[in-house]
Amino acid sequence: MLTIGCHLSITKGFYKAGLDAVSIGANTFQFFTRNPRGGKAKEINAEDINKLTQLMEENDFGPLFAHASYTMNLCSDKKATREFSKMIFQDDLKRLPLLPESLYVFHPGSHVGQGSERGIELIIEAMNESIKDDTEATILLEGMSGKGTEIGGSLEELKQIIDGVKNNKKIGICLDSCHLYSAGYDLVNDLDGVLEEVDHIIGLDRLKAFHLNDSKVEYRSRKDRHEVIGEGTLGQEAIIQIINHPKLKDIPFNLETPNELEGYHQEIAFLRNNFTNK
Ligand code: FE
Ligand code: FE
Ligand code: ZN
Repeated sequence: MLTIGCHLSITKGFYKAGLDAVSIGANTFQFFTRNPRGGKAKEINAEDINKLTQLMEENDFGPLFAHASYTMNLCSDKKATREFSKMIFQDDLKRLPLLPESLYVFHPGSHVGQGSERGIELIIEAMNESIKDDTEATILLEGMSGKGTEIGGSLEELKQIIDGVKNNKKIGICLDSCHLYSAGYDLVNDLDGVLEEVDHIIGLDRLKAFHLNDSKVEYRSRKDRHEVIGEGTLGQEAIIQIINHPKLKDIPFNLETPNELEGYHQEIAFLRNNFTNK
């Protein structure tokens, strides 16, 4: 079964987001754990969560993606930013068990000129301070396009972080088709090769989630510009190959394309129509 959804707002509650998902043929969705610019997380309302959990069961949902805010930067060059980021990271992890089944996805961070080695060191340090033996959450590092001083633009960097985390049993990765292509992984001409590389460097067992996006920019451009499915440099064929690849059979996909609900609805219908890997 294809688990596919898209990024949705939870400002009107989790249940409302679930209803939106169902109305567009989705059986997962992604939400921001808090305002994308940081700040306070939404109060958790147990009744709202229970209603969503039931809706998810009735509609064969896969896990949701709980996406950290973009401003969270565990490897900032400013101590205050690092401390604030660590605080929201820890708060997110604490809240996750109270939500319906969710995978926690975060961008590793930007070293802002300190160099990747130092950046990676700081991320590992923050994760080790935050992830305890009893942390239940599945925590996924997102593979990035590698723009600017972004960490995670290569599989090797993701692997280095995973290796540095002591309690890394539940650490995995979320790949993003737009980011991979921009970072120089040629999903269009050699999807098999890219997946072999993922397996060789990190291990496919750590790949738990996928962001499905087309891209506005060329291969290896190291830019991060999402495009509607089929209208970008990846194109329909490459995206159809991804959702049908036997090695990605049980992976949940969420769209982060520039769309409103109706646009997502059409994309999901297109993907379901082209899903043959049943
Ligand atoms: Fe992301
Ligand atoms: Fe993404
Ligand atoms: Zn992106």
